[in-house]
Amino acid sequence: MPCNRTRQADPMTKRDYSSTGIHTRLAHSGNDPRDFYGFVNPPVVHASTVLFPDAATMAARNQKYTYGTRGTPTTDALAGAIDALEGSAGTILVPSGLAAVTLPLLAFLSAGDHVLIVDSVYHPTRNFADTMLKRLGVEVDYYDPLVGAEIAALMKPNTKVVFTESPGSNTFEMQDIPAVAHAAKAGGAVVMMDNTWATPVYFRPLEHGVDISIHAATKYPAGHSDVLLGTVSANEACWPKLIETHYTMGCCAAPDDVYQVLRGLRTMGVRLERHQQSALEIARWLEGQPGVARVLHPGLASHPGHEIWKRDFSGSSGIFSVVLDGGGEKQGHAFLDALEIFGLGYSWGGYESLAVLVWLGDRTVAKADYEGPVLRLQIGLENVEDIKADIARGLAAAAGAR
Ligand SMILES: *Cc1c(COP(=O)(O)O)cnc(C)c1O
Repeated sequence: MPCNRTRQADPMTKRDYSSTGIHTRLAHSGNDPRDFYGFVNPPVVHASTVLFPDAATMAARNQKYTYGTRGTPTTDALAGAIDALEGSAGTILVPSGLAAVTLPLLAFLSAGDHVLIVDSVYHPTRNFADTMLKRLGVEVDYYDPLVGAEIAALMKPNTKVVFTESPGSNTFEMQDIPAVAHAAKAGGAVVMMDNTWATPVYFRPLEHGVDISIHAATKYPAGHSDVLLGTVSANEACWPKLIETHYTMGCCAAPDDVYQVLRGLRTMGVRLERHQQSALEIARWLEGQPGVARVLHPGLASHPGHEIWKRDFSGSSGIFSVVLDGGGEKQGHAFLDALEIFGLGYSWGGYESLAVLVWLGDRTVAKADYEGPVLRLQIGLENVEDIKADIARGLAAAAGAR
């Protein structure tokens, strides 16, 4: 059955931005204003039904759009923009970042298969694997984020997927993605990466051996803490199975949210530069503050994964963790309760600073011996001096709670 999803820019009429710089791609890829009377932005198409001109066309489904769940000019614009950024053959859009994790796992795993998941993974990914994947008869193992090429020893004949996330959620361990991908593919597995932290601006997984790149577009692409969306991008080999599963599941994203994320992409590059600059300045400053044992930010020379980060990534985003020198939950809560600018809340990638006390009780392998409570900081777009003053308040309160 033809599905006629043409994501590639038509070379006869459209400018191809795939070889331009990343900021040019952020500004221009996805839609062509000439497709809609020259308006700069694409229309938000709200649709279930698409009409066919006659019965024969309907029977053959021989037109570009056939039903709302199978794509619209709005979803094509965002998916096309993400393809240009990721260098992927195709991208699906799903209602949340978590759905962007679960859908490809369901697409590529069957009963009797084995999946290897990095132990520093986003917790809801682990929850999905430990509940639904296990119930469906998939064998689940977790591996050390620092495993590198040694992952070859963990591969089984039935290992169908190796799931990576780098840096790790909350503790920011850097994975040697090219080494893991090489060994995993030699063993016949599909390699997936949750690339939410770096965004395609700072790391492009498909250029490093990954087959499927996953993003919580909820974070920096949306950028304003008001939209949930996920994207999954595949190389040529994995695209047919991914899009088929997307259609089978009916797990499509809503048009207004898709539009908001496309809008967010246009400014994501400059927002990220500011997040990066402020986060690095604050992370370096934190390393010299009393009461701080360590700062977990791969952009710092002191980070054990710094060399890998420098080799593979072209930048860092605005989220990292700080480990206090001694104490526990009481000191962590004292830090959080003293903050006035930082909000206490989950998620990140918005314009505002956020803090959480990290829980590491789910780890089975990546259990570092942290000196004290681990606090995750998302550095927003506020003035750095104000953010530092707020963190100083938190550190003083934590010290006072000893
Ligand atoms: C937030 C996050 C997700 C999930 O995104 P939601 O849109 O909140 O469901 C997935 N992976 C990582 C690494 C995340 O940080």
